Amino acid sequence: MKIICIGRNYAEHAKEMKSEVPTEPVFFMKPDTALLKDNEDFYYPEHTKDLHHEVEIVIKISKAGKHIEEKFAHKYYEEIGIGIDFTARDVQAKCKEKGLPWEKAKAFDGSAPIGKFVNKSTFADLNNINFKLDVNGQLRQQGNTKDLIFSFDKVIAYVSKFVTLKTGDLIYTGTPEGVAAVNIGDVLTCSIEGQELLSFHVK
Ligand code: MG
Repeated sequence: MKIICIGRNYAEHAKEMKSEVPTEPVFFMKPDTALLKDNEDFYYPEHTKDLHHEVEIVIKISKAGKHIEEKFAHKYYEEIGIGIDFTARDVQAKCKEKGLPWEKAKAFDGSAPIGKFVNKSTFADLNNINFKLDVNGQLRQQGNTKDLIFSFDKVIAYVSKFVTLKTGDLIYTGTPEGVAAVNIGDVLTCSIEGQELLSFHVK
């Protein structure tokens, strides 16, 4: 399986990163070794001094497809979940400065914690889902999918033009504003519409 991540998919986050709001989706990938499941502990990586959380709604692909039309994209996923796109912000800044790829900043082991999935039929409107990240019991990031620049279906249509999507692939759909540093000892807890789906310790 592969992990596809959408960058700058919420305008307020693009602004806080002093990045342009994109006119077409920006995506990058993480390998399967980035996944961190079952609320396992996350070990702060040695190659960064400025690790940031990015809480994101995650789509689980349920059927293989290529060149999927936006109007049919909803047939390619049944479940959504929530995860963290961990980013070594200092390493990413250096990569950006030099025009180099981001893998060291984004794709390291454990950089994609993922929680439990829920059937999408649980939600009345996928374009109006509240989600949040608490750090040590305090609200740190919150978003609503109505603020997505590119909806789930648009993202699937766009990415599948270039990359065949396969059953089990995950798409991290982008983070709202409020990204910040995490520290050893923190507990990160992620919820969708008040339902806690992911909680883990940083060690
Ligand atoms: Mg992200």
